[in-house]
Amino acid sequence: MSLPGKKYQPVPSWSECVNFYHAGEGHFFLVCSFLSFFLFFVYFFSFFFLDVTLAFSAERGVVLSAEIVANERETRFVLSLDKKIPFRVFTLSAPYRVIIDLPEIEFRLLPESGRKGDGLITAYRYGFLSSGRSRVVLDINGPVLIDSSFALEADEGQPARLVFHLKATNPDTFRLHNARREKMLPPRRIDRPEVPFVLPAERPAMPLIIVIDPGHGGVDPGAVSGNSVKEKDITLSFSKELASVFRKKRKYTVFLTRERDVSLSLSARVAIARNARADIFISVHADKFHSTNVRGATLYTLSEEASDVESAALAREENKADAIAGLDLTEEPEEVSDILIDLARRETKNFSIHLARTMVASLKGEVVLNKNPHRFAGFRVLTAPDVPSILLELGYLSNETDVRDMRSLRWREKVIGSVQEAVDRYFSTRFAEPVTSK
Ligand SMILES: [Zn+2]
Repeated sequence: MSLPGKKYQPVPSWSECVNFYHAGEGHFFLVCSFLSFFLFFVYFFSFFFLDVTLAFSAERGVVLSAEIVANERETRFVLSLDKKIPFRVFTLSAPYRVIIDLPEIEFRLLPESGRKGDGLITAYRYGFLSSGRSRVVLDINGPVLIDSSFALEADEGQPARLVFHLKATNPDTFRLHNARREKMLPPRRIDRPEVPFVLPAERPAMPLIIVIDPGHGGVDPGAVSGNSVKEKDITLSFSKELASVFRKKRKYTVFLTRERDVSLSLSARVAIARNARADIFISVHADKFHSTNVRGATLYTLSEEASDVESAALAREENKADAIAGLDLTEEPEEVSDILIDLARRETKNFSIHLARTMVASLKGEVVLNKNPHRFAGFRVLTAPDVPSILLELGYLSNETDVRDMRSLRWREKVIGSVQEAVDRYFSTRFAEPVTSK
């Protein structure tokens, strides 16, 4: 490389690059191109670097308050914090949402905050997302643009703040704006590991594997009772207690899909069960209904045809969990069609039904069951083709007695005893004879 007056200068300045670009100097031009490419790369991947900043910010911050200020021109969303923190903001459609990603942070907000919106914001949610990140999801009543967003240091008695100015727009402008963002952000896979499909062996080696899935979590609270009891908390504490009872028995290995208050996509929950080569998968939920009199536990298994209107509505509600957590699921895997998988699916379905029926029988007489305790619907969390899966709705958060029951240790012990007995019975009949799966 020959440079006039400066030999082997390791990093050229930008003006030199530009000058040499014009002068057409060969080798040096290559170095300049590399530098430009590098800057280009930094620009396009800045979102990833921001992600890293989000994930590894040293000390956990605190959100002290959240405020919506709305007028005819715009809606402002303001988070007050104990210190300035990095953030990332973007929009999603179907339904329209604004997603604010933060480093893992503590939300010191009132339990009812976010349930009522103002202006363009109809409601908002917040919580842990995953791997050291937290998220705020704003539900929006139509297409919006983020007119501006910025972080302010604490100043003149005011705390540090994150400020978001939202303006209503039309669907075309929204789409255009989002398309630009998607070009800048390379598609990112959500936590969905690939699991090679295998037909179940004749009899699994002991111990048997149980995956328990506490429904909802993090940004997605699930159903919420009148006195702000959240489904995500009920499901987590119940699942942990259930797991510890199973773990006391040597013959079971138990995994929980989540151990804390964190968001998890429905497909990730299915993938965890499949990765673990689970013998059964139990997803734990607590329902809500418009009539406050309806109560009792219900067992659900997968079916394309729902057994009744309420089950179909419930499955629709539960399947919204990913949208509620602000997960962008534009790259859903295509439906796999394979005769082996179809065969396994049918067999798995029968085992799931057997497990649900066994559990209904053992819960009967112990606790109040829904009038039709075994129902079917298209729950996405129950779609593992090779893991018998059931969804246990413990009760209704819309019914006061059910809420009291679900929070009572005695009640939970009774249910856990029955669930455990049912699982024991299921396995003893399931493997009484070798299962043929060929
Ligand atoms: Zn649920």
